[in-house]
Amino acid sequence: MRFDFWNSLSQDIAIDLGTANTLMHVKGKGLLLNEASVIAVKQHEHQIVAVGNAARNMWGKTPEGILTVRPMKDGVIADFDLAEMMMKRFIKQLNLRQWMHPRMAISIPSGITEVERRAVRDSGEHAGARQVYLVEEPMAAAIGVGLPVDEAVGSMVVDIGGGTTEIGVTALSGLVTKISIRIGGDEMNDAVVQHFKKQHSLLLGELQGEQIKMEIGSTRPYRSEKTMEVRGRDLISGIPRTVTATSEEVQNALEEPVLAIVDAVRLALEKTPPELSADILERGIMLTGGGGLLKGLDARLRRETQVPVSLAEEPLLAVVRGVGAVLDDIDRYQKVLNLRLRR
Ligand code: ADP
Ligand code: MG
Repeated sequence: MRFDFWNSLSQDIAIDLGTANTLMHVKGKGLLLNEASVIAVKQHEHQIVAVGNAARNMWGKTPEGILTVRPMKDGVIADFDLAEMMMKRFIKQLNLRQWMHPRMAISIPSGITEVERRAVRDSGEHAGARQVYLVEEPMAAAIGVGLPVDEAVGSMVVDIGGGTTEIGVTALSGLVTKISIRIGGDEMNDAVVQHFKKQHSLLLGELQGEQIKMEIGSTRPYRSEKTMEVRGRDLISGIPRTVTATSEEVQNALEEPVLAIVDAVRLALEKTPPELSADILERGIMLTGGGGLLKGLDARLRRETQVPVSLAEEPLLAVVRGVGAVLDDIDRYQKVLNLRLRR
């Protein structure tokens, strides 16, 4: 490989553009950005009011004329202009050398269409990339947690994000099996909100749903007897009211999205060729993504699949680490970059 002067100077950026969170890793510098994928804009002028965690904190509280938007939905770009504005602003926050366009590697869900892929590539280019590489999320997650993706053994990762659950079996630098369902942490939040609406006639915001999930949420066989005071608006009287929520009812509310994830993992195991299944049975499944932190989910998957399951050490960082590793050693990972699109 010829030494490439320009590439050695370039401050390449690895990006995990998630439905819930955006993370950026700069070559040689490490993880420099970890923010919510949210942008707040003035409604008509499309002028940025805030991005990232600051915008997220405004969610559901903005005055008239200001919109808080999550431009990513189900793992893909839902609002192209706002996604681009958000990405540009994040990149600006990295304070890189201005005179050199970076190369960018961006993770994408494995199940997306050509059009959706192009949208990601285009937004990277509009944000100033001289070249955009796309890495499929399960592959990135597997690399990020140090699984031997380029060896002749099968490794399974289950990455549960806000909008999607991505399941992949890697072997010889490829994804042998991949399943992507549009169910993840967002659906869990929603299930909690719906439960309070139906069972308690109480209206909650999405962020409250998420908070309840994170504080007292779990799935069987996890056992806990916690309670939490939940304040919302009474559906009938319209007046604020407090309800004491139990971990048991939240566990029941979460059953539907959890089952969808369990079923998808089962299906992925069924679709995997027997030689690789044997590897997975021996080496286990690795759980990544923020949704993997739901209490009891690892044990639940273990029980339902009879395969060992472990939760990654820092599940929220797996994908960006993997994309960063790819960018650091593009020669080694040529094969996982076969998604580079042609013009
Ligand atoms: P994405 O890749 O879609 O941006 P992430 O991997 O960043 O998603 O994970 C975000 C999701 O993880 C959110 O739905 C969030 O509610 C969920 N999450 C984070 N921490 C926890 C926790 N402790 N328990 C349950 N869910 C969690
Ligand atoms: Mg993700």
